[in-house]
Amino acid sequence: MNRQQEFVLRTIEERDVRFVRLWFTDVVGSLKSVALAPAEVEGAFEEGLGFDGSSIEGLARVFESDMLAQPDPSTFQILPWRGDKEQTSRMFCDILTPDGQPSAADPRSVLKRTLAKAADMGFTCYTHPEIEFYLLKSAELGADGRPIPVDQAGYFDHVPGGVAQDFRRTAVAMLESVGISVEFSHHEGGPGQNEIDLRYADALQTADNIMTFRTVIKEVALTQDSYATFMPKPFSDHPGSGMHTHFSLFEGDSNAFFEAGAEFQLSKTARQFIAGILRHAPEFTAVTNQFVNSYKRLWGGGEAPSYISWGHNNRSALVRIPLYKPNKGQSARIEYRGIDSAANPYLAYAVLLGAGLKGIEEGYELPLGAEDDVWSLTAAERRAMGHDPLPASLHDAVRAMEDSELVAEILGEQVFENFLRNKRAEWHDYRIEVTPYELRRNLGIL
Ligand code: GLU
Ligand code: MG
Ligand code: MG
Repeated sequence: MNRQQEFVLRTIEERDVRFVRLWFTDVVGSLKSVALAPAEVEGAFEEGLGFDGSSIEGLARVFESDMLAQPDPSTFQILPWRGDKEQTSRMFCDILTPDGQPSAADPRSVLKRTLAKAADMGFTCYTHPEIEFYLLKSAELGADGRPIPVDQAGYFDHVPGGVAQDFRRTAVAMLESVGISVEFSHHEGGPGQNEIDLRYADALQTADNIMTFRTVIKEVALTQDSYATFMPKPFSDHPGSGMHTHFSLFEGDSNAFFEAGAEFQLSKTARQFIAGILRHAPEFTAVTNQFVNSYKRLWGGGEAPSYISWGHNNRSALVRIPLYKPNKGQSARIEYRGIDSAANPYLAYAVLLGAGLKGIEEGYELPLGAEDDVWSLTAAERRAMGHDPLPASLHDAVRAMEDSELVAEILGEQVFENFLRNKRAEWHDYRIEVTPYELRRNLGIL
């Protein structure tokens, strides 16, 4: 038993915690949870808790289904939304095989492996996400077949007495109480759409925070008779929900992306990192944008990026270099705008970081930046400038990923295959579906 484990056991005792939830995610990032009685926690630390991995999407095949969930004591947290009595807490878990080795199919271990590689190269990776989501009246659709948002407000609107206002206040307080610091929160462009930006943290902690965030937001919405969704594009005529993420690499105490006096104050390391992301974006987009619906966001306007480009303060760019004050070199960072709010954060951050590191390792050259709005250029202009399109559909994205040695290496063979299997099945289901669009378009005239 180490110090952190002892601390957890003591806290459970002192705070009279009745349930300890063990959390982990499946290959598409759905949260899985099992509740333990306090007396079982010590055993789970020592040996892990056994469960049937073949019942979890993408984790194990039926003939090798025994798996162990071993709680990570550094993630222990009391969950405030279950009330003060009979306290509930949670810890994230690492998934182990029966012989106690990290499971190659565990998304959290994929990110850990990529972070270990960054550490070998001398880097710590910090991230902060801007998480967008819609607040709806319920999960039910209206008479017109569309979801019903809680308000009709827009970007930065202050809605006196509005649901969203109250909602954000409660949600931010709840997030702070589970140790997640919030930097900004505001109404976003779509009706009922909100954004909450988390303070930067190391990438593994950010991914854990995102999983917690989604649960907190859904729980708070339920207490306010509303429903929160992280679906990438719930309305065809309103912006989708992105999860733009800012990345920086630190070498010790200094920001490796910063170079005073360089163009946009970007160091060579930063330029190579961006080049890696741009070059491999088509191959990893299936991971950062994993649903059929994700491509409705990427190609549906609303300030989502469709083309591969980078720019300084250019909102049509896939990678944006945010403005910062010259004396704030430590805040140098790049923003990836492609990723959406429904991504598996462990896998998505692993592929983004892995692609950036590849750019550094191989010394990739950064292509010219885009000063213009990339959407307003003609197709020929875009081609001449090298702004290739992102994949147009989940099908295209899966095809691009299948051929990617880099993504296979980052995810490991098992996750790579399991993920692709899941996504091919989704595309197959979608492809045979007759949609309201087709009925509207064809039924009356054909
Ligand atoms: N909602 C937009 C997206 O889907 C982003 C809007 C913004 O710039 O914050 O990426
Ligand atoms: Mg936003
Ligand atoms: Mg942004």
